[in-house]
Amino acid sequence: MSSKNKERNLLRKVYGYYFPTAWKQDKGYFFSRFVQLIISSISPLVTVVMIPEIIAELMGEKRSEVLIQLVTMLVLIQFVLNLLSALFRYFIEKSTQRFEDYYSGQLSRRIMELDFQLTEDKKALDQLELAKNGMTRYSGGLNGLMEPLFNAVSAFITMVGVTYLIVKQAPFVLLISIVVVALTTFFNVAKNKIEQNGYRKLSKIDRIFGYLGFGLADFRYGKDIRLYDSKDMMVEKWKRYTEEYNDKNVAIANKMLPLQLGTVMTNILHDAAIYIYLGFLGITSRITIAVCVQMISAAGTFTNSLKSIMTSYTDMVKRANYAHEYVKFMDYPSAMEKGEKRVGKGSHVFEFKNVSFSYPGSEVSVLKNMNLIIHEGEHLSIVGLNGAGKTTMIKLLCRLYDPTEGEILMDGINIKEYAYEAYMKVFAPVFQDFQLFAFSIRENLLLKEDFDEADEKIARATLTKVGISEKLRSFTKGLDTIIYKRFDMDGIEPSGGEKQKIAIARALIKDAPVVILDEPTAALDPIAEYEIYRQFEDMVKGKTAIYISHRLSSCQFCDKIAVFSEGYVKEYGTHAELVDKEGGIYAEMFAAQAQYYRDEKNNHASVMAVPGE
Ligand code: ADP
Repeated sequence: MSSKNKERNLLRKVYGYYFPTAWKQDKGYFFSRFVQLIISSISPLVTVVMIPEIIAELMGEKRSEVLIQLVTMLVLIQFVLNLLSALFRYFIEKSTQRFEDYYSGQLSRRIMELDFQLTEDKKALDQLELAKNGMTRYSGGLNGLMEPLFNAVSAFITMVGVTYLIVKQAPFVLLISIVVVALTTFFNVAKNKIEQNGYRKLSKIDRIFGYLGFGLADFRYGKDIRLYDSKDMMVEKWKRYTEEYNDKNVAIANKMLPLQLGTVMTNILHDAAIYIYLGFLGITSRITIAVCVQMISAAGTFTNSLKSIMTSYTDMVKRANYAHEYVKFMDYPSAMEKGEKRVGKGSHVFEFKNVSFSYPGSEVSVLKNMNLIIHEGEHLSIVGLNGAGKTTMIKLLCRLYDPTEGEILMDGINIKEYAYEAYMKVFAPVFQDFQLFAFSIRENLLLKEDFDEADEKIARATLTKVGISEKLRSFTKGLDTIIYKRFDMDGIEPSGGEKQKIAIARALIKDAPVVILDEPTAALDPIAEYEIYRQFEDMVKGKTAIYISHRLSSCQFCDKIAVFSEGYVKEYGTHAELVDKEGGIYAEMFAAQAQYYRDEKNNHASVMAVPGE
């Protein structure tokens, strides 16, 4: 694609995105911009139109009242136009802030909606960085994009207006202006190129300067600089690079000089040609002196408008390039197929069918040809050494990732076919690395700002169930207590165990048909864990529950146990079936832990660890 076509495509994409979104957000902005456009288009024309009237009067009848009238009118019109312009500029500035808030809000929203697996994708993360800066600093935001566009339109209207006047009186002015603007543009493009190439060459020396000037001042270098007496070498280097820097700068300036002279000469030639041409028309009485002065002013206005159109276009392309990074992030392709099937109410049966999985960008198979059925209302315990793929299996079940091979079915239908958000509602997981938000306990539990008495009751009852109500009573603000001190000095810093209890309460309050505990109890002592699991069994009666725990005592509650090893389900059955299996992994793990448990009970030690950890 040619570079002109590329530019046009870019402008179409960027303005095609921002126009409708900004219009929906704030129509008043466009009204203000439109009024500004009219004012800045007609303001230069007023002077051009009125000047010959004043001069004609000065050279003709010289009536002072008419002159006063004309000058007052000119000053008054410009005054009103300037006043209106300032007023609408104020409205535009107000909208600019609103747009900034809106577009950064949309960005945050998009980040939270992004397919989970993209949160680990380097390309998506790089695009996010570019988007953040692109829409704020570099493009100047929405107003930064619209300004050159409206400037160009306004300059165009002014240009059409003066062209009409010029064509009637002195058409050759147009030719002179066009040649001058073409030459100026040519010089500017050449200057930009030299500047860009030059700065690229200077950037390496700039970094060396940064190193010599600031990096070496770092105290870590202090000892070596002193003991090896390397100060003189540093100063010598500094001198040498300064000379090199100056030489390069001089070379750039030398290359720029003829172009700068060219620009100056072009401007002088422009004025000279205009004066000679208009002088000739005046002397030969083809135009009056008043029109001659008018044409001089019109020629200036025409040239400036044409230049303004050219610079506005370059500005638009430059800003659009930055803003495009935002558009690209907002349209970042989804990493997952999403269906529309509705999810039925109540319990569900899940089936992993020949599921294999590798993390994006990794060759290692974490799950290998896995088959597993989780029946309706079943309580399943998943055990295995670290890295066996237990959490990964949960992430696939919750559709944070899709299998690389094979499929996962819910009630006999591939989970990809269900509406994504509805499918997410099926699960209430507490992951190992769960996060609480720096908001109130209530907001952390209910995940909404509006709540009623019933919500409040549920929140309190659940906190009692998970055994944290005593603690809650010690907080003066109760459920309104803010977690963490990031935004509130009165905030609390809950212990690991307290955080886990709150996270478990949040999962219970979601009241989803499938509850998952992925080792969330690791920070609890064995007695507290045992208590929580026991009570949890009561709380999740009738629901499907999946537990991952290293402490096998918790498995005994479950209907079924799946033993994961190296990405496979190696053993599957009830506790009774597995615990005595000859040479079985579960049997071995259980025996080892029971041994620790017996020993540690005597020593008041607490943890029943899996061997090998
Ligand atoms: P478990 O829960 O059984 O301890 P995981 O499912 O967490 O095991 O991890 C299984 C394997 O997948 C490990 O080797 C781990 O390093 C790898 N893994 C986990 N998460 C990622 C990830 N986001 N990207 C790449 N590899 C990962």
